[in-house]
Amino acid sequence: MTDTEKKCNICGSEFENSDKLEQHKKESHQEKSREKPQVSKSSRYKATGIAAAIAVAIIIVVYFSDSTTSIGTVQGVECDPLEGTIFHIHAHLDIIVDSKHVIIPAGIGIKPNECLYWLHTHNTSGVIHIESPQQTTFTLGQFIQVWDNTPGISPKFEEMTHGDKNIRVFVNGTEVKDNYANIKLDAHDEIALVSGNVPQSIPSSYEFGGL
Ligand SMILES: [Zn+2]
Ligand SMILES: [Zn+2]
Repeated sequence: MTDTEKKCNICGSEFENSDKLEQHKKESHQEKSREKPQVSKSSRYKATGIAAAIAVAIIIVVYFSDSTTSIGTVQGVECDPLEGTIFHIHAHLDIIVDSKHVIIPAGIGIKPNECLYWLHTHNTSGVIHIESPQQTTFTLGQFIQVWDNTPGISPKFEEMTHGDKNIRVFVNGTEVKDNYANIKLDAHDEIALVSGNVPQSIPSSYEFGGL
């Protein structure tokens, strides 16, 4: 062994013997210079992984907020997976076109296996269920917007009333000179919308039974 063999040719440090020099070279130069890019590589993978995780998280958030949008809120009326029980009242709607009662579809405001709007119909009785987690005054206009925005419901309100812009409104048998959209839905109200000829008798009340 010569002196040069005990001197590190990279940093010039001297060592007692060639073994220690070898060890030094391994520890200080070879391994580090071999390891460093490995470490930065793995941290680059780590960073890529984190970025990917963030991207996935963003996609999930966007996806779910998209699906929330697709469930939709119609004029402040939300669609909830469960029926709200805090506020639960009923009003009855009759639609009379050219003196004939027309059937109001069942399932307005209900997206099966998805959600129920706070305003909905369970059957063709014309009973509007107003079920929400908060006590709020809803309008007939909101109900009709929900109607028109419930997939699979036919006919739509405008189809039923032939797009009539002069629909007359009777609440509990008394004509109200206002647009039907502004009519408030109060408990046990009997609302009649009349398009075309006004029939001789307008319903003034409805038998709600236990509702
Ligand atoms: Zn209900
Ligand atoms: Zn109800």
